[in-house]
Amino acid sequence: MSTALPPGSSVLVVGGGVVGTSAAYALASAGYEVALATAGQIGDGASAGNAGLLVPADSVVWPGPANARAVPATLLGRSAGIRVAWGNPSTVPWGLRFLANSTARKYAAACRATHSLSTHSLRVAEKWAAAGDVGTDLKRTGMLFLVDSPEAVTEAWHARAALSAAGETYTELTRAELTELDKAYAALPAGLRALYAPGAARGDSQAFALALADRLRGLGATVLERRPVTRLVFEDGRVTAAETADGRLFADAVVLAAGVATRGLARTAGVRAPVLPVKGYAATVPLLEPDRAPQVGGVLESLHVAFSRMGDQLRLSTGAEIGRGDHDVAEPARHLLQRAGEQLFPGALDWTSAEYRAEHRPMTPNGLPMIGPTSVPGLYLDAAHGSLGWTQAAGSADLLTQLVKGARPPIDPTPFLPSSPLPSADTVGLRPPI
Ligand SMILES: Cc1cc2nc3c(=O)[nH]c(=O)nc-3n(C[C@H](O)[C@H](O)[C@H](O)COP(=O)(O)OP(=O)(O)OC[C@H]3O[C@@H](n4cnc5c(N)ncnc54)[C@H](O)[C@@H]3O)c2cc1C
Repeated sequence: MSTALPPGSSVLVVGGGVVGTSAAYALASAGYEVALATAGQIGDGASAGNAGLLVPADSVVWPGPANARAVPATLLGRSAGIRVAWGNPSTVPWGLRFLANSTARKYAAACRATHSLSTHSLRVAEKWAAAGDVGTDLKRTGMLFLVDSPEAVTEAWHARAALSAAGETYTELTRAELTELDKAYAALPAGLRALYAPGAARGDSQAFALALADRLRGLGATVLERRPVTRLVFEDGRVTAAETADGRLFADAVVLAAGVATRGLARTAGVRAPVLPVKGYAATVPLLEPDRAPQVGGVLESLHVAFSRMGDQLRLSTGAEIGRGDHDVAEPARHLLQRAGEQLFPGALDWTSAEYRAEHRPMTPNGLPMIGPTSVPGLYLDAAHGSLGWTQAAGSADLLTQLVKGARPPIDPTPFLPSSPLPSADTVGLRPPI
């Protein structure tokens, strides 16, 4: 059965984060009649609270041998980076699948797949940026992995072996090389070592989504904010519309790109999408001393804090609370973000005006997003990009659009197909329509 939909057909995209807005923009650019409906405002959700890094060089999936080894410490609440919310009934089945996907072989295969998507995505995002304003300064600055021992350098390399094999390079810098790269690192504590990877960029995904929404309107698409979809409408064996409080939105096809809400919405059409929220925290901090804040972002591995420059602010993020769906910003998370910021760039940041958020990475148990047609005619997914949604939004939108058109995909889509065995055939299947 062909799933191809000719340009000119109507497509409803549900979800106005960076993934949904990118999908809507790519589809509209390819000649589809697009409507985008989102629950809040364009660019909200995780797209408003991430670290701002586009990271082919760090496109590793979370299920893998290292995280599997950390399970005992995590279960005892002694893992620095990861916590588990047992109150969520989906956590245990999701976690068991996560562990089943954590073998060295599956980790390497998933890293190769996610890296190919990230690499393609950065190229697409840059192409869009070259064609006009994308609301943010999308800069290929590279990134730094800041670690505190020679063993940690080796470990960081080892974890990214599949990416190295795919062409990413990682170079340990001397102090002089580091300050030559970016003078903001002049005050870096003596114990820290810096591994530099050129394969990364930075930018503000919320601003990017807002700019794409403007382009969408310019292309004649409809952008509906504050229009939450409550369920999908399933008629004559296919999805034909999405229900909202203001009535039904009809379309020839519906794309779910609603972050962590994708799971519940997909279920209303009988499709299971194993997306769990992995809560994280972000601080957006104005700069007191712009020269002492970095142009090259990165990750402070010992505290699990990622950071990047966004104009005259620094964004820092941390935390991974599996199964937590609330937006509370816990005091220890604020404290950790401040500690990391002051350790790296002392005196450069104005913490009195810092803004904090807690958002959710939409994550599958194999760490890969779900992109393409589902087993239900008329329903597509572009969702569950976990910790890499900003990196992969533009490339996923391009891949989805080629799949909708039935054209040759730009990269191998197999690992991302909702019906593929890699996201796990047992987790996505047709249920009796509701
Ligand atoms: C702390 C943290 C740090 C991160 N750092 C990075 C990073 O440095 N680099 C990177 O690449 N990625 C990073 N990520 C991941 C990235 O932010 C996400 O993968 C990405 O934002 C997901 O985008 P999305 O559009 O799928 O979901 P979201 O941004 O969450 O958007 C979902 C959208 O769906 C809408 N929606 C929800 N329910 C409904 C409904 N019923 N009807 C209609 N609309 C609905 C919401 O309003 C929202 O607009 C990070 C994430 C977190 C939490």
